Amino acid sequence: MAVVNVPIRPERDTHLGGENPFESMMARFDIAAQKLNLEPGLYGVLRHPEKQIIVACPVLRDSGQVEVFTGYRVLYNTARGPAKGGIRYDMGVTLDEVKALAAWMTWKCAVVNLPFGGAKGGILCDPSTMSMIELERLTRRYTSGIIDTLGPDSDVPAPDVNTNERMMAWIMDTYSMHKRHTVTAVVTGKPVAMGGSLGRREATGRGCMIVTRQALRQLNLPIDKSTRVAVQGFGNVGSISAKLMSDLGLRIVAVSDKDGGVYAKNGLDVDAAIAYVAKNKTLKGFPGGDRITNSELLTLDCDVLVPAALENVITDENAGDIKAKVICEGANGPTSATADQILQDKGILVIPDILANAGGVTVSYFEWVQDRGGYFWDEETVNTRLERIMVESFAEVAGMAARHGVSMRIAAYMVAIDRVAQVHRLRGMYA
Ligand code: NAD
Repeated sequence: MAVVNVPIRPERDTHLGGENPFESMMARFDIAAQKLNLEPGLYGVLRHPEKQIIVACPVLRDSGQVEVFTGYRVLYNTARGPAKGGIRYDMGVTLDEVKALAAWMTWKCAVVNLPFGGAKGGILCDPSTMSMIELERLTRRYTSGIIDTLGPDSDVPAPDVNTNERMMAWIMDTYSMHKRHTVTAVVTGKPVAMGGSLGRREATGRGCMIVTRQALRQLNLPIDKSTRVAVQGFGNVGSISAKLMSDLGLRIVAVSDKDGGVYAKNGLDVDAAIAYVAKNKTLKGFPGGDRITNSELLTLDCDVLVPAALENVITDENAGDIKAKVICEGANGPTSATADQILQDKGILVIPDILANAGGVTVSYFEWVQDRGGYFWDEETVNTRLERIMVESFAEVAGMAARHGVSMRIAAYMVAIDRVAQVHRLRGMYA
């Protein structure tokens, strides 16, 4: 059997933007920590991931060759509870990126006050070149590699880029086989038939709609057809955000995907666009409006901009041209740290990613609670509880921003860091 070693990719600094991803996250952390007068010892603790795991994952390819993939799992901070965070399969995965994303998850869980810490995982691979059985072998081998940290009380993965409920089912099964009994609460984002939660699929977009509504109310902007929305990305987050914002009464004037966008001044038929993409796998050719590029979409004359696709699309190069009054960051890290100040100077209300897209992890938390209790809620209960958490979290962040005269992003970091720091102080230091 031939063994192929896939090299560990050198640390890359482009995936989350031109900025090194960890440093980009830390740029915001540092400002918030300073505002909070965080004591130097705690500052040091919170700048370091608790645990970083690198595992070699040999996989038997369908060709008969063995290929060795590199997998990562970083537990950034578990002071507030079990580590929570997705696993991505991508050729851009680096330890530095996983570390940054794990830190992000720590702040995201804290900003919506979930009893979780933060983690992230990734495997350096190109899933588009792998068969389903190869992906299953890889997922199971990676799971067994990190099994010592996994568990409902210690580390609970979820889907991320290029992973889905199918992989979560394999992780749950592998973990359960080792434990000799079924443990549904070890992962979230599972199929509903095996312990998943109703409402999970729509949760991130629903959260985006709720915080956007709260932002419009705060700015005394109307919640009707006179408020124009442009959404970049028409996958899970973008399409559901567009649909629910349209249901709320807003006018969706533009949507886009990787093949470009479509614009209609008088509003797009979002249901028709969703049906078109379900059939054609792309928005390309959708007849409901004029073609625009993804960069044109970002600077459109609109009131609400929802970047819900990629990292680092709003930079110091285009931030000055953005006309929206509210930006709801559906994606993780769509705005570079250097663009933050430009948006703030323009008076744009940016609902930061760690708040705006936290609806997903909130319903993941509901899934974990339901699995542990063995009692499942109806969708209305899920949505009502999500609504309450998003509304309260928005108000807490807005309150912090007003009290300290800072942006919503810095305020969100302040709320989160303060919560994590508070628990560290109460727990004391084990030495
Ligand atoms: P998805 O794969 O379902 O959809 C991604 C969309 O972005 C697709 O429409 C794709 O065509 C589009 N896209 C890809 N490349 C593009 C490009 N160059 N320009 C414009 N559009 C492009 O992914 P998703 O789950 O909707 O996630 C989108 C973002 O939201 C990611 O940053 C993800 O990390 C973040 N997020 C997702 C969730 C969730 O629950 N799904 C939760 C929190 C954050």
